Amino acid sequence: MMADIEAYSQAQLSSVLGSASARKLEQAFGYLTVGELLSHFPRRYMEIGELTNISELPLGEEVTIVAEVESVTQRRMQTRSGFLLQAVVRDAMGPAQATLRMSFFNGFEAKRDLQVGVTAMFSGKVSQYQNRLELTHPAYSLLESAEDADPRPIPIYPATAKFPNKKIREAISLLLPRVTDQEFPEFLPPQVLKKMKLSSQAMAFHEIHEPDTAGRGYAARKRFAFEEAFLLQAALLQRRAHRRLQPAIARGGRTDGLLAEFERTLPFTLTEGQQRSGIEISNDLVRAHPMNRLLQGEVGSGKTLVALRAMLQVIDSGGQCALLAPTEVLAQQHYQSIRKLLGEWGNLGELGSDPRATRVDILTGSMATNDKRRVLLGAASGETGILVGTHALLSDVVGFADLGLVVVDEQHRFGVEQRDLLRSKAISPPHMLVMTATPIPRTVAMTVFGDLEVSLMKSLPPGRAPISTHLVPLQIPQMQERLFARIAEEVTKGHQVYVVCPRISEKALEDDAAPQLVDPEEEPGEKGSIAPKPPSMTVEKMMELFSGLPEFAHTNIGELHGRMPSEEKSATMADFDHGRLSILVSTTVIEVGVDVHNATLMVIIDAENFGISQLHQLRGRIGRGGHPGTCLMTTWLDAEHPSIARLRAVESTTDGFLLAESDLQERREGDILGASQSGSRSTLRVLRVIKDSKLIERARTEAEEVVESAGGLDNYPLLRTAVENWVDEDMQAFLERG
Ligand code: ADP
Ligand code: MG
Repeated sequence: MMADIEAYSQAQLSSVLGSASARKLEQAFGYLTVGELLSHFPRRYMEIGELTNISELPLGEEVTIVAEVESVTQRRMQTRSGFLLQAVVRDAMGPAQATLRMSFFNGFEAKRDLQVGVTAMFSGKVSQYQNRLELTHPAYSLLESAEDADPRPIPIYPATAKFPNKKIREAISLLLPRVTDQEFPEFLPPQVLKKMKLSSQAMAFHEIHEPDTAGRGYAARKRFAFEEAFLLQAALLQRRAHRRLQPAIARGGRTDGLLAEFERTLPFTLTEGQQRSGIEISNDLVRAHPMNRLLQGEVGSGKTLVALRAMLQVIDSGGQCALLAPTEVLAQQHYQSIRKLLGEWGNLGELGSDPRATRVDILTGSMATNDKRRVLLGAASGETGILVGTHALLSDVVGFADLGLVVVDEQHRFGVEQRDLLRSKAISPPHMLVMTATPIPRTVAMTVFGDLEVSLMKSLPPGRAPISTHLVPLQIPQMQERLFARIAEEVTKGHQVYVVCPRISEKALEDDAAPQLVDPEEEPGEKGSIAPKPPSMTVEKMMELFSGLPEFAHTNIGELHGRMPSEEKSATMADFDHGRLSILVSTTVIEVGVDVHNATLMVIIDAENFGISQLHQLRGRIGRGGHPGTCLMTTWLDAEHPSIARLRAVESTTDGFLLAESDLQERREGDILGASQSGSRSTLRVLRVIKDSKLIERARTEAEEVVESAGGLDNYPLLRTAVENWVDEDMQAFLERG
């Protein structure tokens, strides 16, 4: 029977539809097999019940009308090759004098079908052209007469000019007769189907393509969305279960070790979140299976300290730790703050150090060969307890004597593959802690990080001063002067100021290297939410502006961006850190992790160029030293511009989780999952992370019950195969996106 299933779903379309149609389908959609075409689902359904009269068409909305073709004209296009077919149709249901024009570019199909006198049902979006309403490229279905309209809804598929809706319907209807429970046996557990009130797979194929009512069609869609969510969750849970069985070295720590010494001298008390996460992590490390935990905490919630405590526990157990940071600036910052926090306990190898101390090192790509060699030796010999670094840590030459814990900061910038690379440097699987300051809504976390345990830290350390955020509309006269006056005022008070610009320079525009326009260290994932508008202010121009203003003649101003040599970057960062610079003009390289307590003002120039979570992260850089912080977001946009809503959202709350939800609303699906827009097949076919969040939660619960029951997936051989296939085809792509 299995062979049979394979046979039909895997059968070549050419063997069922003939080679001509098959070739066209491949050209249009890339489909080769029956299964692929069957999974080409309608976007929506057109129903007789919702017909609109031509006399009352709403502009900009999707409508369906039944009308008779009154005249057809064809003319050449003036500006491009091809022809324009225009049909004027007369309402066959509503007031008969009402007519409407329809346009088809290169409408070969329409030209053949839409003869004068023919009645058809049309569906499309009402647009306006030359002061007249029209439908451009409507989907249509020919009718014998208006009365004879098939009462069943018409599926509207994603279609192309060469493979229009009608042909897709015909092709699929040729496949459907062989879609039976035998050919497509149900693989979801029967109790789950029943609980969720879902149709069987074969039934759902029939219902989604040829439903009796649109409602039935949408219900069938739910089955496929659930199926996808369920397979994803089952695969993630399976992965988690497998890892829980892997052996790892337990790192229980000691009561008289470094951690204990460190705690004794720690100048502050842990927040409730730090305590709870600390216990969760510590308990994981004690087990002889690898920890896989995501530490999610607001900007400034003190994740570094949590990570450091975990690292000390591992060092106390004889293991080494690697801390992977996404940028050099951040790696430096981590290195400095760990050295500072550890004090003399991080001095091993230096003059007069305590033998119980450990060695902390940093490795970045730009280091001199000699320094590198020294660092590599320390890691390989086992002397180094903590190695902080950038991607350089992933290089082949890096080896550890006994890597016990891998900490990944700002996890969303690294793919699973990169995490796995580090993991492979250990003898047995190391424990893994990934950290992110980007609040992730529950279902997204479930979808993207479903194989990880999660620790949450919502509270900030005490003494954190509030940050007030204001939008500064620069088109209002004197706003610019007031902005600079505000910056000067802060500097006079002895405080420090960040000025963040969207781009490094405009010169890059003229260079052939267009990608350099964007700071190479900038957040890669947020472009989808940015309105396409030429950036107006750059780091370079801002530096120029400052140098022309007399009130800043005696102010030390530095610049920082990803295209600077890294020693220069570190030097600048250190200057700002030590107060030698009052103003730092930069790109978003300072976005994550940077921690300068005396900084009180964050100015974000042309703020519409940044996404919600980026803005939130940026302002998290200030208000850290007990002084209240101010974040000013400037913009030249009109108050009505759609991007302003995003800025208003950031202005209105400092709750990162709330903002993450509104961020989601405006981002596209692919951006959320970090998918490329390369046009390759999207990993999630039916499922929509936002729209289907309830379904994902249900799927998680149901999958948990199945995977974690005695015997797990082995009780459901068909399901196990489906999960395995899914992992092969989709999970790999999915996981690589991290
Ligand atoms: P993030 O979670 O954004 O990475 P950091 O780890 O950089 O935050 O911590 C932000 C600042 O808060 C650091 O200066 C750190 O030393 C300080 N900090 C961390 N925990 C506490 C605490 N319990 N009490 C006071 N300050 C703390
Ligand atoms: Mg941090």
